[in-house]
Amino acid sequence: MAGGKLQAPRGTFDVLPEDAFARGLLRKRSEELLEHAGYQPAETPIFEDTGLFARGVGESTDIVQKEMFTFEDMGGRSLTLRPENTAGICRAYVEHGMHKLPQPVKLWSWGPFFRHEAPQAGRYRQFTQLNVEALGSDDPSLDAELIILLAQVLEQSGVRTRLLLSSLGNAGTRAEYGEDLRAYLRARDAWLSDEVRSRIDTNPLRAFDSDHEGTRAAMAEAPHLIDRLEPEDSMHFSEVRALLDEAGCAYELDPTLVRGLDYYTRTVFEFESPDLGAQSGVGGGGRYDGLVEKLGGPPTPGVGWAAGVERILLASQGMGWTALLPVRAYVVVPKAECRSLAFRLVQALRDAGALAEMEQAGRSVKGQMKQADRIKADYVVIAGDSLEVKDMATGDQREVSSLEDAVSAVTG
Ligand code: AMP
Repeated sequence: MAGGKLQAPRGTFDVLPEDAFARGLLRKRSEELLEHAGYQPAETPIFEDTGLFARGVGESTDIVQKEMFTFEDMGGRSLTLRPENTAGICRAYVEHGMHKLPQPVKLWSWGPFFRHEAPQAGRYRQFTQLNVEALGSDDPSLDAELIILLAQVLEQSGVRTRLLLSSLGNAGTRAEYGEDLRAYLRARDAWLSDEVRSRIDTNPLRAFDSDHEGTRAAMAEAPHLIDRLEPEDSMHFSEVRALLDEAGCAYELDPTLVRGLDYYTRTVFEFESPDLGAQSGVGGGGRYDGLVEKLGGPPTPGVGWAAGVERILLASQGMGWTALLPVRAYVVVPKAECRSLAFRLVQALRDAGALAEMEQAGRSVKGQMKQADRIKADYVVIAGDSLEVKDMATGDQREVSSLEDAVSAVTG
């Protein structure tokens, strides 16, 4: 490092103003949508005890086996930068006795997550997620509500998607099915990739996610969990589907949909975007009815999703986030004596809802007009001996008689 060029670490990025604006707007609109549906904001720490993720996400998952940023603090504790949101939220639910609150507890959050993956377009080591979790009810209307909310977040961001949907049943069905799938995989051992073969015992379901040709061929005839759901789980899934159908929310059933975390039960879903290339998953989630109990709490059903903020913005190219800015005004100060008038005018413009700035860098009047162009001002107000308002789109310039008139000329 000594003397070397300083750069952001591999797989991370700086958010510069243009992107920050789009991110802020995405956050604001999502927040409005979620709060209208009764979801409240909540935040958990960015690092947690490593054991939380090992227990919560699952020892055999890619995330826990190879993607966590884990470190020891000065007290010798093993901590991990959070790779996902659900385990932390469930920990908080238990720690704060939230099962005593009226159920379901509906929470949303936005923040950074960390996974040590090979960086590529749309895949980073620090990325941002919008997360929604609903705990304390297994009502199918929650599954449907959550899926529709994510569809709406994506739709209002101009992201084209397709929605894949499946059900993983309960832990018992999944365990039994896992045994059968292991036997199926062992019988086709020679076709499989080394990675899939080495995980037959720990995580056979992931074989469905493999890109390896032999594995894919071997999986073509594999049994599907969705064909073995118990009546109660099957009924739950039918109800979720009926609610989505009634709401006109289109989906494709995908019996091979396997999410990369161990805690899922019943409904699982993923939104893919055709505009994202290899990293096509833009958001996904599902039910995790056993997780709270696994983390030491009372038996508590839960359902949630995570959407990648960077991927939403990548897939929403052409959305024109900047077109949504309020009217922008630039106040030109022709001479130093006019500074306090200009300052008052800027305050009044801002109070009236305009985005207003004034000259603050000692430019000539010509330089100030250039600056107004640069910031794409809709109006310039020249605060000199007289007050003049120039409409930058038409080029019309007219004198106004008071500060209030200048404000209405800009905001009216
Ligand atoms: P997951 O829980 O793995 O499905 O992640 C949920 C969402 O987070 C994904 O659909 C992506 O949009 C986003 N995401 C996950 N991992 C990354 C990453 N390494 N870089 C950027 N976004 C990611």
